[in-house]
Amino acid sequence: KLSKRLETVASFVPTGAIVADIGSDHAYLPCYLVHKGIAARAVAGEVVKGPYESAVKQVRTEGLTDKITVRMADGLAAVEETDEITAVTIAGMGGPLIVSILEKHPQALKSVTRLILQPNIHAKAIREWAMENGWAIQDEVILEEDGKIYEVLVLQRGEMKLNEAQTLLGPKLMETKVPVFIEKWLREIANWQRVQQAISEAEKTPDNQEKYEQLTHYIKMVQEA
Ligand code: SAM
Repeated sequence: KLSKRLETVASFVPTGAIVADIGSDHAYLPCYLVHKGIAARAVAGEVVKGPYESAVKQVRTEGLTDKITVRMADGLAAVEETDEITAVTIAGMGGPLIVSILEKHPQALKSVTRLILQPNIHAKAIREWAMENGWAIQDEVILEEDGKIYEVLVLQRGEMKLNEAQTLLGPKLMETKVPVFIEKWLREIANWQRVQQAISEAEKTPDNQEKYEQLTHYIKMVQEA
């Protein structure tokens, strides 16, 4: 059974999609997508040998070698033009790493119409990248599993303009304000206040002062939202 986190990612993959799952580890997500008849076929990419071998093994065990190709490659280098990938999933990494993967091989996104991204932290980096690269947020979900809070971002081609609060918090998530969302940002505010406390006990430098004020700005912005 798939985790609730990956099941949420899967729920946004359009039926009939040709999927590239980058950083696939055990290839659980592409196996699920093909088994359920959601994905027509898939590529599972892994840059590390151990997880790559786990993916190969899993795909073989599930008898899906004709529908899922596992490739050892850095990020979107796992995608070939003839794959005609229509949807890309990248889950379980930090937002900035996801962005660096998207930026490194932009030509791999040529046939792609949907990105389903699940950053563990710093979703903000993805929203900034999306705004600058012609992608718009179609949907956003926040969920909790085993005490951890995850965000899932669904992007389609299009223009989008977000203000600072929307970039940090997520335009859709801000509208719905589900309990997990409130919990996440209360935790974040508490963290920032701890950092501020530490700064105020440390030596007074211009850098520290600036950091303190930046945190005050963030805390105020989140509280207002
Ligand atoms: N996507 C799976 C999930 O969400 O459960 C696995 C997440 S796992 C925490 C992150 C995986 O991404 C690791 O297996 C790691 O080897 C892989 N990874 C990290 N950077 C990568 C890159 N540049 N290209 C391909 N895979 C990468």
